[in-house]
Amino acid sequence: MEKHAHARQMKNLLAAIPATLIPGDGIGPEVVGATLRVLDALGSPFAWDIQQAGVAGVNSSGDPLPTATLESIRRTRLALKGPLTTPIGEGFRSANVRLREEFQLYSNVRPVRTLVPGRYEDIDLVLVRENIGGFYVAHEYYVPIGNDPRAVAVATGVNSRDACTRIARFAFEYAVKNGRQKITVIHKANILKALTGIFLEAARDVAKEYAHRVQMNDMIVDACAMQLVLNPWQFDMLLCTNLFGDILSDLLSGLVGGLGMAPGANFGDGTAIFEAVHGSAPDIAGKGIANPISLLLAACLMLEHVGLGNSALQLRTAIGKTLNQDNVRTGDLHGNASTEQFADAIVRRLQTD
Ligand code: NAD
Repeated sequence: MEKHAHARQMKNLLAAIPATLIPGDGIGPEVVGATLRVLDALGSPFAWDIQQAGVAGVNSSGDPLPTATLESIRRTRLALKGPLTTPIGEGFRSANVRLREEFQLYSNVRPVRTLVPGRYEDIDLVLVRENIGGFYVAHEYYVPIGNDPRAVAVATGVNSRDACTRIARFAFEYAVKNGRQKITVIHKANILKALTGIFLEAARDVAKEYAHRVQMNDMIVDACAMQLVLNPWQFDMLLCTNLFGDILSDLLSGLVGGLGMAPGANFGDGTAIFEAVHGSAPDIAGKGIANPISLLLAACLMLEHVGLGNSALQLRTAIGKTLNQDNVRTGDLHGNASTEQFADAIVRRLQTD
């Protein structure tokens, strides 16, 4: 009972942090619902403003990124976001990419840590991804030839020295603040000599400012993919261009049990959006079996961001105990709990521990 009273007290004291909540598409509303229940049990400090985006945005107001959603984030500068569906090969541009551009969320932090013993043990890695440039600027077009209007496809990537320096400085600062020893810069500067060469060059320049505090080495992306599978423990932090970071962060999630275990945070100057690494998982949407841990861990990052590290630690501990002492797990972790049952089990842990 005392625990409940404490949680309620926390809530009353802290309920003043306005934050935007985007349930998202597919499994989004399911994992967001589970996360809200757990946060409530923890004594959530957030006053949510619920807004839509993605296909849900199109359905509610004809726009994958409705004005009301943008205005809400402009006001709160803080959001927890479910995954958003983007049509493949055609249709509207990714609302995720537009959000990152709109709020200049240039840094994407994606930590992975072993929570359940699996193929790999003791994984503890942080990937920092440049979040706006590279090939994601989507300067793409087709060149028609003869009767084929799409005979040739052309894409241009853009990386400025300023943007590369900014993300490199973010990564080195993150390393210093979080006690990380080494940053491996991932590139393809043997082939994309300009686009990823400038990234490596900027990182090397920034690294000089941090000499004796953080080590830096670099690796070509394909070799890194192999090394991550063979010996992931050689890495501490990865600093990646936009596309390589997107791909390698899914690989990282595979080292700790899959996409159900991987949170992400998008930071710009003054705005932060927290989300899972995974997408809307249409193959399991509506079945109530999605693993909510990625979004729960994203909520932990959000709590840390607003200075509530103790609450984040409490939640991380409850997740660990639910998985490993209560043996409650969702199907992706070879358990049989539903999303709701898993959330219930965490709530019980929070209420009794
Ligand atoms: P996905 O991440 O949605 O799913 C890949 C696989 O992982 C699927 O088999 C799925 O069932 C499984 N999976 C993902 N999350 C899970 C969870 N929490 N618990 C259990 N299993 C989980 O990737 P996709 O299928 O390539 O993409 C689907 C849609 O999501 C696309 O429209 C894509 O654009 C979008 N997407 C959005 C984001 C985002 O909003 N940040 C990120 C990635 C993909």
